[in-house]
Amino acid sequence: MLKEFTLKTDQEGLYNITARVGETVRESGVKDGIAVVWCPHTTGGITVNENADDSVRGDLLLGLDRAFPDRPEFRHAEGNSAAHLKSSCVGVNQTIIIEKGKLLLGTWQGIYFCEFDGPRQRKFFVKVMGGLKHES
Ligand code: ZN
Repeated sequence: MLKEFTLKTDQEGLYNITARVGETVRESGVKDGIAVVWCPHTTGGITVNENADDSVRGDLLLGLDRAFPDRPEFRHAEGNSAAHLKSSCVGVNQTIIIEKGKLLLGTWQGIYFCEFDGPRQRKFFVKVMGGLKHES
């Protein structure tokens, strides 16, 4: 099963998409398999991180800004090379195990769409693969 989602971002940030991925897994009926979350953008990404303390998301963005500052030497005419660097560093996909029909996330883990260049109209895909019966 493949499902496409749209996401309107108002600024750079991490947007929690865990519920939408979980709902896709439920709709698929897959009990034992994997879900791949895919971002088809070059200045966005997908990550798994803290879902409890909101300040962690801000700290991640601050750390990425420090690691990938805008530089006058960059030649990309669009002027957003730092966002491209962050996208390649974080990655554009995550694979999450499905066990007994549920995402095998840790208690404090959530799935996030990373916007490094908003505001923009974005999309992401969730591909669910596996068996409809639980294999122990
Ligand atoms: Zn660009």
